[in-house]
Amino acid sequence: MSAELQLTELLIDGKHRPAADGRSFTVLDPSDGTAIARVALAGTADVDQAVAAARAALTAPEWARMRAADRGRILYRIAEAIRYQGERLARLESQDVGKPLRQAKADVEAAARYFEFYAGAADKLGGTTIPLGPGLIDYTVREPIGVSGQIIPFNYPLQNTARGSAPALAAGCTVVLKPSPEAPLTPLEIGRIALECGLPPGVLNVVPGDGETGAALAGHPDINQVTFTGSVPTGIKVAQASAANVVPSVTELGGKSPVVVFADADFDLALTAIAASAFGNAGQTCSAGTRLLLQRGAEEFLDKLVSHAASLRVGPGLTDPDIGPLVAARQRDRVLSYVDLARQEGATVRVGGAPSDPALADGYYVEPTVLTGLTNDARCAREEIFGPVVTVIEFDETEEALDIANDSPYGLASYVWTRDIDKAMRLAEGIRAGQVYVNATGVGTGVELPFGGYKHSGWGREKGLAGLDSYVQTKNVCIGFGNRS
Ligand code: NAD
Repeated sequence: MSAELQLTELLIDGKHRPAADGRSFTVLDPSDGTAIARVALAGTADVDQAVAAARAALTAPEWARMRAADRGRILYRIAEAIRYQGERLARLESQDVGKPLRQAKADVEAAARYFEFYAGAADKLGGTTIPLGPGLIDYTVREPIGVSGQIIPFNYPLQNTARGSAPALAAGCTVVLKPSPEAPLTPLEIGRIALECGLPPGVLNVVPGDGETGAALAGHPDINQVTFTGSVPTGIKVAQASAANVVPSVTELGGKSPVVVFADADFDLALTAIAASAFGNAGQTCSAGTRLLLQRGAEEFLDKLVSHAASLRVGPGLTDPDIGPLVAARQRDRVLSYVDLARQEGATVRVGGAPSDPALADGYYVEPTVLTGLTNDARCAREEIFGPVVTVIEFDETEEALDIANDSPYGLASYVWTRDIDKAMRLAEGIRAGQVYVNATGVGTGVELPFGGYKHSGWGREKGLAGLDSYVQTKNVCIGFGNRS
């Protein structure tokens, strides 16, 4: 704990302030475990104040009476400010989470795109008219749902802050955002930037904290909606807490996404895309393609993947390697325990595991890892490892690939690589997941594409125009006039 680190404060009602009870926590650089920041830890009293500020801002004329186009204009300004400050934000994200600098820069661009995309939607949230006959006019209005409580994980703090707050603000809601204690720095920066860009005080509040802070927000009786991104067990707790107040939730949870590679696929095209999906952000991506379903006869692809994984450079995020450290020691230990489990389950570790380089000894590193010799029943094929680990499972026929792809508690994303349109369409039709990519992955920033889970990967959709639905409620107005007899 470095006493000399200046306190990074909470953002409540447009003001930076310490926690009411004075608590704080230290943020570590995952590349070497050194302390990089001390951040105020929001407690229940701070959550109460943030929710009260968001509720007051919801009906304050500066926000409630602002024209939709002007809300959009503020969001455009935030997008541009994020880009303008992109280099600094990317370095902060890289140091906080461990991700390679170029991935952090891509996250900056994605965050800017969320604000830009939803800025354009703010003045297009129109309703409909419903024909009822003479003397009656019926129309719908899409009103902001109210105060949105948003709880986000550690892996994409910039993107997740923007992904939830931009559509909420476009719809006219106000937000209390609780970042992960492992990655609180850039969400606070977005809050500050938003204020500077003209967002009224109290419209976006940022209260970093732990599970207790999140629980206080999820179960708060004065919020109107919850957007939760994180693991399944926490998602269940959050959904239960909000449901107890009849508050709806969006839950964006984990995944174990299948990547189906047929023997006729373009292996070179597939290789870099599959490796980026599985190993990018050190595998800490909910939609990572971590179950590689490989058609027998496509063994050449496996050899290419193994040598590609072995060639990737592992190192501190700020040196812009291919793979950075995992976010925390507990995350690294969890991933390495899965690699041990895989060996016990009979797997061959073709490449990967803990790095042997002594220069990386103080950081939380795992090398890109490929496991073979397992079936889809193995725990390493069913559970979300959340590290740079791919489990390879073999299949013969298209229908078998489909069955294995769907034989998972999760259903977040899926990826298919083939040159055969019939195989591609059969899988796109049959896979039970919120997204199916065919011969493509990581298309731009993906901001435009609805995203969310089937099964244990959660419910509701973020991203795209569908992402606005969580932040509006429909009011129907029916007016009779004149003589209707
Ligand atoms: P986590 O569930 O441990 O924590 C997520 C957030 O919930 C954190 O801010 C945490 O402080 C908070 N929290 C913890 N206990 C809480 C409680 N009882 N009530 C309310 N909030 C509480 O997840 P994590 O380890 O930070 O992130 C990894 C998980 O997130 C993975 O499962 C990953 O797949 C998932 N994820 C999903 C998506 C998606 O869009 N589907 C995106 C990113 C990450």
